[in-house]
Amino acid sequence: MDINVGVIAVQGAVSEHIGILKRAMKENGIEGKPIPIRKSNELEKVVALIIPGGESTAISKQLVESDLFDRIVERGKEGLPIMGTCAGCVLLAKRTVRKKMKLLGLMDMTVERNAFGRQRESFEQDIDICGLERPFHGIFIRAPIITHVSDKCKILARIGDKIIMAKQKNLMAVAFHPELSNDTRIHRAFLSLIK
Ligand code: GLN
Repeated sequence: MDINVGVIAVQGAVSEHIGILKRAMKENGIEGKPIPIRKSNELEKVVALIIPGGESTAISKQLVESDLFDRIVERGKEGLPIMGTCAGCVLLAKRTVRKKMKLLGLMDMTVERNAFGRQRESFEQDIDICGLERPFHGIFIRAPIITHVSDKCKILARIGDKIIMAKQKNLMAVAFHPELSNDTRIHRAFLSLIK
């Protein structure tokens, strides 16, 4: 049976996720395709969902305006695998350190936006990720960090003492941009959450 994996397509790095998902699905032997999601009825067709990077405040606002917001929360609670990258990582959190915005709040963690400071707005670094044999080349663009997780979340990667990747059951938060590294391993790990 063909399945659909959704990518929220209101703003941000959408086509890059669609491109790497195509490869990751093929490599995992999954028949189906990635589809962009703009309306809540499109969400009903997917068995997994990615919330891409971009500007979290803008994405949050557009999710609310398009009725997607509440439906994503419901489906996330029902067990839909959801991966949020960069701005998507921010949106999955329950709390942000400073600026208040409407968050999906699905993962019991706190995030700090743009947390690497001005000098390090964008950088690349090889990181060790729990479950991956070799380091992953992480591309960070005004990335958030996860400042706190409850014991419901498993920490998957850090840079120094900063948490940059975590998982809570069906949900994965990634502070960087795995869709830009020409490496399908994070997307493949995410797809393996599909039941
Ligand atoms: N700094 C952005 C935010 O907090 C995220 C940047 C990104 O997704 N590359 O929304």
